[in-house]
Amino acid sequence: MTDKFHYQCVDCGAEYPGDKVIYLCPACQPGNLAGQPPKGVLKTIYNYRQIREWYPADQLFQQIQEEKFLPLLPIRCKDSWPNLRIGDTPLYRNDSVVQGNESFEIYLKDDSQNPTFSFKDRASALVSAWAMENGISTLIAASTGNAGSSLAGICAAQHQKSIILVPAKAPLAKLTQIMMYGANIIPVNGTYDDAFDLSVEASRLFGFYNRNTAYNPLTIEGKKTVSFEIYNQLEFQVPDRVFVPTGDGVILSGVYKGFEELLLLGITERLPIIVAVQAAGSANLINNVSSQNFRITASATIADSISVDVPKNFFMSAGFMKQYKGESVTVTDEEILQASVQLSGSAGIFAEPAAAAAFAGLLNFARSGRIPKGSKNVVLLTGSGLKDLASVQSQIHLPAPVDPDIRSLGQVIRTFLSKNP
Ligand SMILES: [Zn+2]
Repeated sequence: MTDKFHYQCVDCGAEYPGDKVIYLCPACQPGNLAGQPPKGVLKTIYNYRQIREWYPADQLFQQIQEEKFLPLLPIRCKDSWPNLRIGDTPLYRNDSVVQGNESFEIYLKDDSQNPTFSFKDRASALVSAWAMENGISTLIAASTGNAGSSLAGICAAQHQKSIILVPAKAPLAKLTQIMMYGANIIPVNGTYDDAFDLSVEASRLFGFYNRNTAYNPLTIEGKKTVSFEIYNQLEFQVPDRVFVPTGDGVILSGVYKGFEELLLLGITERLPIIVAVQAAGSANLINNVSSQNFRITASATIADSISVDVPKNFFMSAGFMKQYKGESVTVTDEEILQASVQLSGSAGIFAEPAAAAAFAGLLNFARSGRIPKGSKNVVLLTGSGLKDLASVQSQIHLPAPVDPDIRSLGQVIRTFLSKNP
């Protein structure tokens, strides 16, 4: 196990063996300050040269794929996965989702088709599988949103216990899914950050495995699998751009790392341009990529899943963006809502606002002529719109009822037909 992978700190470069529980780099963690992105996030490194030697070069990707990417994951056995379909989500080609577009290719990666309806299942499943292989039966996380629901659902399928800490002020509607999966939910009188810190202390004290994103290095490992799938679904081609909804930077880093590993294995020759899309009201990651001192603006956006004051995976994701010349764009809440309506109405995919933000990013690029003719563009849709029905209420209008006779209905239908010949 130790030989298969090890961890490397993205800040100080220190290396640690892969055979025991570790979260942030022990050398960097003590210097971390409240209100600043943490240093010491660990990157999981495999023996890429050895993997290249296992299979003939022209068979390498197919072989890794046949093994469900196991050679590039920190677990030993496929049977450790939950008995649910994790990832393996559809990639739909739909060029006309941008009206009048005949110029470039658009692919929608619909990760709302995961078991708990979000991308987070990729991370939860791997964290859960690792815990199973290492004899840990209780997992803990702080989350009111998709990560909490995801961990609760995956643990239910794996017969593991989950403890989810949530701020006591979180609305019941957001917690319903977590509770339906039978998680032990514990409201905390405090903020999300208080809940996060408490979950870290509890995992230390009780030996629970902590799934917190950008704290547990394996969350990135689960998320990178989306890049392998995209490469496969595009029939072994690297797309030109991937639009990624971005909050704390973990999904962004996961997408980068997946494509980086294909490059390190000699399977591909380049990375796609990865476009970090943030809500204009919560753009603390991309606003700080080129600045010396990290400055926070308080977040205000309807895109709840990417509303983040301090992006916990800032240093790793900013490093990837610089190394691979990443691009970025911010989109307003109005653009997000319009994108959501357009995506639902022209592709049949009802995405949550954070996911619609990625599509809004593509629309923004298209409007400003930044998408080359003939290019392949992937939009990562990370969660279902059913998760957050309240945010789109301003976009819908329920007509007045008709009397239950065909004459009244006929009048309404004729008006409809005259407007939609
Ligand atoms: Zn370090």
